[in-house]
Amino acid sequence: MNLQESDYTALREQMVQRQIIARGVKDQQVIRAMRLVPRHRFVPEKEIQDAYLDEPLPIGENQTISQPYIVAFMTEQLHVKAGYRVLEIGTGSGYQAAVLAQIVDSVFTMEIIPELAQRARKVLDELGYHNVQVRLGDGYRGWPEKAPFDAIIVTAAPNKIPPPLLEQLKVGGRMVLPVGEFVQELVVVDKTESGLTMENVLPVRFVPMTGEIEKK
Ligand code: SAH
Repeated sequence: MNLQESDYTALREQMVQRQIIARGVKDQQVIRAMRLVPRHRFVPEKEIQDAYLDEPLPIGENQTISQPYIVAFMTEQLHVKAGYRVLEIGTGSGYQAAVLAQIVDSVFTMEIIPELAQRARKVLDELGYHNVQVRLGDGYRGWPEKAPFDAIIVTAAPNKIPPPLLEQLKVGGRMVLPVGEFVQELVVVDKTESGLTMENVLPVRFVPMTGEIEKK
């Protein structure tokens, strides 16, 4: 039996209270976005009842949609603002892109698996997220035609930061990404006039980045 939309709204509010606010996410824009985006629309039909649980879920093609808290935490760490252009590598379900799209001006998101890119594009369209562009391809080289970006988020783990992504980040911009193989750290990179600063902020577990990075 499927739940009603109002039931999902109630489950989502509970998720925001117990998983997001209770764990210390404070950015009001992020909290608002997590309240607005219908996460259950981004998961496969057979996972829909579990959409608001405190865990990642399978989305097909051996990939996963991240746990809600991780999405909120990464979005908060990204320090995004209304006018920003943001690049995401690893569209997956499109959920993280939708959360960003609630806050910023435009989101450019890249996905290497055709089926996922297609499905994400469809659900984002249906929900009216017209400020998100989905591109099929390897995110290692970023999206030079749309660069530079105010912020870059990577949701698959490389073992080294792809240099083209650092180049496509504006001075004053920030990048958040998981780095590592079995043991991964969420890294926050700030690009300043005098260079790059990096900080490890949380141990995490993401699917590996594939494609060109594997040959490096
Ligand atoms: N942000 C997603 C979760 C991403 S899971 C969400 O909100 O649902 C990581 C995704 O990164 C997977 O879909 C995987 O196919 C994709 N990916 C892995 N390597 C990639 C690459 N080199 N370029 C683009 N996408 C990649």
